[in-house]
Amino acid sequence: MADTTQMDKLVSLCKRRGFIFQSSEVYGGLGSVWDYGPLGVELKKNVKDRWWRAMVHARDDIEGLDAAILMHPKVWEASGHVSGFTDPLIDCRQCKNRFRADDARIKGTPGTPDAQCPVCGSKGTLTEPRLFNLMFKTFMGPVEDSAAVVYLRPETAQGIYVNYLNVLQASRQRIPFGIAQIGKAFRNEITPGNFIFRTREFEQMEMQFFVKPGTDAAWFERWREWRMAWHHELGLNPAKLRWHEHAGNELAHYARAAFDIEYEFPFGWNEIEGIHNRGDFDLGRHQEHSGKKLEYFDQAANERYLPNIVETSAGADRVTLTTLVDAYREEEVEGETRVVLGFHPSVAPIKAAVLPLVKKDGMPELATEVYHDLRRRFHCFYDDSGAIGRRYRRMDEAGTPFCVTIDGETLAGRTVTVRHRDSMAQDRVALEQLLPFIRERIGA
Ligand code: ATP
Repeated sequence: MADTTQMDKLVSLCKRRGFIFQSSEVYGGLGSVWDYGPLGVELKKNVKDRWWRAMVHARDDIEGLDAAILMHPKVWEASGHVSGFTDPLIDCRQCKNRFRADDARIKGTPGTPDAQCPVCGSKGTLTEPRLFNLMFKTFMGPVEDSAAVVYLRPETAQGIYVNYLNVLQASRQRIPFGIAQIGKAFRNEITPGNFIFRTREFEQMEMQFFVKPGTDAAWFERWREWRMAWHHELGLNPAKLRWHEHAGNELAHYARAAFDIEYEFPFGWNEIEGIHNRGDFDLGRHQEHSGKKLEYFDQAANERYLPNIVETSAGADRVTLTTLVDAYREEEVEGETRVVLGFHPSVAPIKAAVLPLVKKDGMPELATEVYHDLRRRFHCFYDDSGAIGRRYRRMDEAGTPFCVTIDGETLAGRTVTVRHRDSMAQDRVALEQLLPFIRERIGA
């Protein structure tokens, strides 16, 4: 199967089954903005919940935060985004298309007569690269002038830096400690694409860990290990995950070290998370620009210092896409193609479907009872329409790990059939044992 076909199939499955829709589709869609449907919103929420659990609830040394999207414009001057969050772009004067300067399709040197536009094929029509800021701007208050400009945040991290002393004092934490946040970020990407891989509105799951200078390298290594382990625990195929080190000129000027976790998508190896040793760059800049001291006072050692920061920054949408790509498979079963989303049960949108075998003999009533009991604990689905085989297939496509079938034996002997999505094997489980049976397997 060609790789593009695999993505096309996934995109169409996502639309058909209600995972992801294009934004404003009835108006022709809005470029690289996507909406999550009933199954997609559950999947993404599960990814975020797992992150929050691992980063905040399962640790004593990380606190949560939910900072606003709009921030004081000086934040973005201090962070370097106003002057430096730019991509070099090239325009074609002929067809008016715009390209990133590193677009591999461009032949020749832009700005010279030999350069050729990759879209219209004209020669000599490409401009020299010009810098283009990726931040979205809007205006605050009734007046639309330059004094009222505010930005939609292009990352969540800055909300953490400017709140670090508030959180530290309120939570009575001591360094080393971290702050975690999940929230929307916006970037006016020039070459968005590959479905929800690169979009203009997306969600980040970021954690900034504040450490004593000199201990940053050791913490960086620990965080690298923990973050890769998290992706493995999400059920992603380890053979499709790898490290990419930012070396030499790839390393941002403020970073002491940076590694990306990459996944092998059908369109190639690409970043899903970055782990960065940022030194004291961020707090140093905010201290300088705000004029407020942001040092930490270590009472035990009676010393003051500006903490160093180790950052872990993942995209919630990118990780959600990764779970979809990793889960998608097609199998031949009895001469038919079975499409399965083999999600790890903890991220599966629906954990169990309850299916009365037939719509008579008291089966729907008992099935409804079972369904109501299960749905108090996790997201379930009730389906009584169509042949049982078709209902199983529909649940395979939705990635539901368990189907619970209520049949004649349920009425007679109070047992149900539990059908497993991946093996298609069936177990007979006592009705009283059903809840613990499923909970044990989904980790709920
Ligand atoms: P890329 O090189 O792919 O543009 P980046 O290095 O700019 O990413 P960071 O600024 O480190 O990314 O952001 C951290 C994470 O946020 C990325 O690993 C990715 O998962 C996510 N992310 C960044 N930009 C986007 C986007 N336009 N759409 C979806 N997710 C994004």
